[in-house]
Amino acid sequence: MTCKALREGGAQVLAWDDNPDTRINAQSDGVALTDLDRADWSEVRALIVSPGVPLTHPEPHRLVRLAREKNVPVIGDIELFAQAMAALPAERRPSIVGITGTNGKSTTTALIGHILKKAGRDVRVGGNIGEAILGLSPPRAKTVFVIELSSYQLDLVQTLRCDIAIWLNLTPDHLDRHGDMAGYKAAKFRIFSNQTSEDAAIVGVDDDHSAGVMTRLKASQRQSVVAVSSGRSLGHGVYALGGKVFDALGRSPRAILDLKEAVSLPGAHNAQNIAAAYAACIRLGLLPEGIADAIRSFPGLAHRLELVGTHKGVRYVNDSKATNAEATAKALASYNHIYWIAGGRKKEGGIGALAPFFPRIEKAYLIGEAADEFAATLSGTVPNEVAGTLETALDLAARDAAAGARDTPVILLSPACASFDQFRDFEHRGDMFRTLVRARIGNA
Ligand code: ADP
Repeated sequence: MTCKALREGGAQVLAWDDNPDTRINAQSDGVALTDLDRADWSEVRALIVSPGVPLTHPEPHRLVRLAREKNVPVIGDIELFAQAMAALPAERRPSIVGITGTNGKSTTTALIGHILKKAGRDVRVGGNIGEAILGLSPPRAKTVFVIELSSYQLDLVQTLRCDIAIWLNLTPDHLDRHGDMAGYKAAKFRIFSNQTSEDAAIVGVDDDHSAGVMTRLKASQRQSVVAVSSGRSLGHGVYALGGKVFDALGRSPRAILDLKEAVSLPGAHNAQNIAAAYAACIRLGLLPEGIADAIRSFPGLAHRLELVGTHKGVRYVNDSKATNAEATAKALASYNHIYWIAGGRKKEGGIGALAPFFPRIEKAYLIGEAADEFAATLSGTVPNEVAGTLETALDLAARDAAAGARDTPVILLSPACASFDQFRDFEHRGDMFRTLVRARIGNA
């Protein structure tokens, strides 16, 4: 996509990939290849890399090093987008809403896109979600771009200016790539670069790192800042408390939404996403009632606490995106009487940290490589069974949930593991779960 966009813009593109299969695919798409190790770099204006290419840790990719030796900037597709937008005449320049954070980026991005569409705005949603940024159609007057930005992508921007920059939260992740927490935080902090007094930063203040970011932004007095929280009342900002979302942007706080009505966004973590999306949409000039209505009608994202169906009082929930214990903790915190399907390729740390949620689990059905280890962790506290495959796990869970005497049982796939031992990726795993559930219950 980047090659195509550059060529359409009149650039001469020298393209390379270290993976021979990707090179063959690129060639069949009409991309001419140049071995960049041997190329003449004297006329090269920029090295454009995909976000997966290491810039610093564990060590810079050899072409990144080469580019730096030749004083060639190393950028990504988001930077190309930023440059193209900055070159537009002022009246055609779109509003840009950027969203980052360790968790909740896709949900918040999709939610803002949904609210804006409902309000009749011309919206483009992309970046780290859905379509690549350069594949989105060009802006018209008053278009809003809602862009999910990973730390990898932010490492590759220089001139991006977000009219609204959203920072949701920060917990340790991707440290192999960023070196340490400071490196990870610094990459994400780039979302605020180039903001001016006309722009806004919206910051989730529920973890210490992010509260520190809020303090730093306030002290800089560069842009407007709005705090959001799930669980704490704020003097100024948007927060969720006691099952309601409050707008405290004006003089006195007022409840604008009952969280029970946001059926596709369960759990305290989603309340943070809702608060951030609400604050952004208010900033874009939407009215509270319209925003609240759109939040109620948000269909949710696949694989994230996705309600696949309800049958004979049993809810079937696909949370295949939860590939680590932290994400699964959010899922377990969102329900009671859980028949839990977990396992796959294990992540560091296992599921010991989930112990506070064990009382919510009726029984666990364990699959994949991690099954025995998880069984050992649960042993003596949570009834469990090594099911091996997803299909068997679902059969067993459905049998037990139907026989159980509990109100509102939930069969929850939230694996706390990567999927690669049995599936192509988390989407494949979640799609398989959905298909199996639908075959069992129809489209109930
Ligand atoms: P991302 O795009 O940042 O990976 P998603 O919106 O896809 O985030 O959500 C991925 C998982 O992260 C969800 O299944 C949920 O378990 C968890 N999650 C979502 N929002 C939040 C949040 N605001 N805080 C903490 N965890 C969250």
